[in-house]
Amino acid sequence: MGRITLDKVSKRFGDVEVIPPLDLTIEDGEFTVFVGPSGCGKSTLLRLIAGLEDTSGGQIRIDKQDATHVPPAKRGLAMVFQSYALYPHMSVRKNIAFPMRMAGIPVDEQNRRIDAAAKALNLTAYLDRKPGQLSGGQRQRVAIGRAIVREPAAFLFDEPLSNLDAALRVGMRLEISELHKRLETTMIYVTHDQVEAMTMADKIVVLQAGVIEQVGSPLELYHTPRNTFVAGFIGSPK
Ligand code: ADP
Ligand code: MG
Repeated sequence: MGRITLDKVSKRFGDVEVIPPLDLTIEDGEFTVFVGPSGCGKSTLLRLIAGLEDTSGGQIRIDKQDATHVPPAKRGLAMVFQSYALYPHMSVRKNIAFPMRMAGIPVDEQNRRIDAAAKALNLTAYLDRKPGQLSGGQRQRVAIGRAIVREPAAFLFDEPLSNLDAALRVGMRLEISELHKRLETTMIYVTHDQVEAMTMADKIVVLQAGVIEQVGSPLELYHTPRNTFVAGFIGSPK
């Protein structure tokens, strides 16, 4: 369902090429983490996949279809941001329903999906509250719920936990990992946090200045880092 292929995809902002042409395959159902220092191009790469930025070159395929010039809403992907981006005046239920309402999904079906998502995310008791009455962790769960009900081919997370305190972050990592196991849906997760990458990923993509330094499982990167940058960043002595 959710295999994503990047073929010589590049991105320039003005004269600056922040992503030189790169190739990358994200396998169906895999939890892939883009990790690297601030400014290395993680968000830009995710936004290219989401369609929130236009590519400067190359091709993006989703489910074998050319998606390079397909608008974001038609790519079948759901993005979760660190800023939650919830509507403060709407209840949790209405916030979660919003993308389905926009897509013209019948109300019965909307409610079925909302109830299932709320159950999966422990939000059933909070459906009538406003975002301002929720904790940071609960708000992030609502943002994830809003992504789940779209039944996307893949979830794209951009540092979703960086606004939460350390203890909550650990709990939310586990929740997202469990959600991935349950849904078996492709997830791409951007973070600058090595621990997050090592504990959550099936596959890690290490980026430096828009260049992929290495792709591999956490164990592969730890035991056989390709260069000193990967070794230094992931933390094994080499
Ligand atoms: P990361 O998410 O890894 O911190 P970004 O993808 O946000 O990195 O940024 C990568 C590089 O692209 C940075 O040098 C950043 O300043 C630049 N950049 C990102 N977005 C824009 C933009 N809209 N216009 C110009 N430069 C940008
Ligand atoms: Mg970023």
